[in-house]
Amino acid sequence: MKADQECQHLSNENARLRQQLDILLSQLRSNEATLRALQHLELEILGCTHLGELLRCLMMTTPRTLGLHAASLLLIPPAVEVAALLDNGDCPKGVTIGLPDGLPSTVFDRITLGDYQPYHRVWFPLSRPPQTVALMPLRRGRVQLGWYALGGDDQRFTPDQSTDFLARMAVIMSTCLDNVINHVRLEQMALSDPLTGLDNRRAFDRRLAEKVAQAERYTRSFTGLLLDIDHFKPINDTYGHPFGDRALVAVAQALKRAMRTSDVVARIGGEEFALLLDETRHNAVANTANRLRQAIIAAGATLSVRELTLTASLGVAYRRPGETGDVLMARADAALYQAKQTGRNRIVFAAKH
Ligand code: GH3
Ligand code: MG
Ligand code: MG
Repeated sequence: MKADQECQHLSNENARLRQQLDILLSQLRSNEATLRALQHLELEILGCTHLGELLRCLMMTTPRTLGLHAASLLLIPPAVEVAALLDNGDCPKGVTIGLPDGLPSTVFDRITLGDYQPYHRVWFPLSRPPQTVALMPLRRGRVQLGWYALGGDDQRFTPDQSTDFLARMAVIMSTCLDNVINHVRLEQMALSDPLTGLDNRRAFDRRLAEKVAQAERYTRSFTGLLLDIDHFKPINDTYGHPFGDRALVAVAQALKRAMRTSDVVARIGGEEFALLLDETRHNAVANTANRLRQAIIAAGATLSVRELTLTASLGVAYRRPGETGDVLMARADAALYQAKQTGRNRIVFAAKH
C-alpha cells in the first residue's frame, strides 16, 4: 500500500516536472526565435549601404520586428546637412530633420524608458502618440546624431526594465547612420565641384552615360551643350583670381536657375560648363541656349564692375541615334570652337544629321 502511494507520488511528480520542462522548453524556443529575429534585424541594419535604405529599416522593419506601435527618428546637425541631400522619395515618414520646438535636447542624454508625456507628441508627430516610449540617444563619439524612439502601447516600456539590448541597438544604429552619412558625404564630394556646387566632370560623364542608355531604351533623343566664358583669362588677370572665382559662382547659379531641375548642369573645366537638355525641338533648344547666353550677361552685371561685360559662347549638338556620349560632346565642342572663331558671345548648332 505504502509502495503504491510512493509510486503514485513519483508518477505525479514526474508529470509535474515534465509539464514544467515543456513550459521551459517552449519559453526557450520562443526566446530563441526572438533572439534570431533580433539578430536578423541587427544584420539587416548593419547591411544597409545607403542612407535611404537604413532610414527605411529603422522606421519600418525595426518596429515591425519588435511588434511595436511606431518608431521615430530625430536627426540633428551635423547629420541634418547630409540628410538634406537625400532624394525626397528616400526619406520615410517619421524622420524629423532638425530639433523640433519643445524638445529639451539636454534632458534625454541616456536611454529612457517609460511614460514621458507630453513629449510623445513631439517624437511622434505623424502618428497617434504611444502610451510608453523607449528613447535612445544616437551618438558617435562626442557627436550627437539625434534620437531614435520606439513607441509601445500599455506598459510596454517601464523605467525598471533592462536597457542592455537597447544600448546595443543604439550603438549599432549610430555606427551605421554615421557610416552611411559619411558615404553620402564622400560621394557628394567626389561628384561635385567644390567652388560652385555643380556636378563635376565625373558626375557629368555618369549622367551623360545614363542619358545615352535611356535614349537608346526609349528611342528618344536629347541635346548636349558646351558653354565657355569668353576672355576669362584677362578678367582674372585684371581683377584677380578671387574675383574670377566669384564670377564663376555667379555664372553657375545663373545657369542652374535658367535650367529645369531635371536637366544636367556641370562645371567640367575652369570656365567651361556642360549641359544636357531632354528637349530636342530646335526652337525650344535655341530659346534655352539664348536664355543661358543672356543669363551669363546678367550674372556679369551683378558683379558690380561697370566696365566688365561677361559673355559666353555655346556649342550645341542634338544626339543622333546610336551616337555615344563622347562623340556627341565632341560635336558640341567643335560647334563651340566655331562660336569662338566667329566672334564669341554666340551660339553655334552642330549639324542635326
Ligand atoms: P576664350 O574666350 O578663348 O575662352 O578665352 P579665355 O581667356 O576664356 O580662355 P583661356 O582658356 O585662355 O583661359 C581660361 C582661364 O580660366 C584661365 C584660368 O586662369 C581661368 N580659370 C580656370 N579655372 C579657374 C578657377 O577655378 N578660378 C578662376 N578664378 N579662374 C580660373
Ligand atoms: Mg574661355
Ligand atoms: Mg576654356
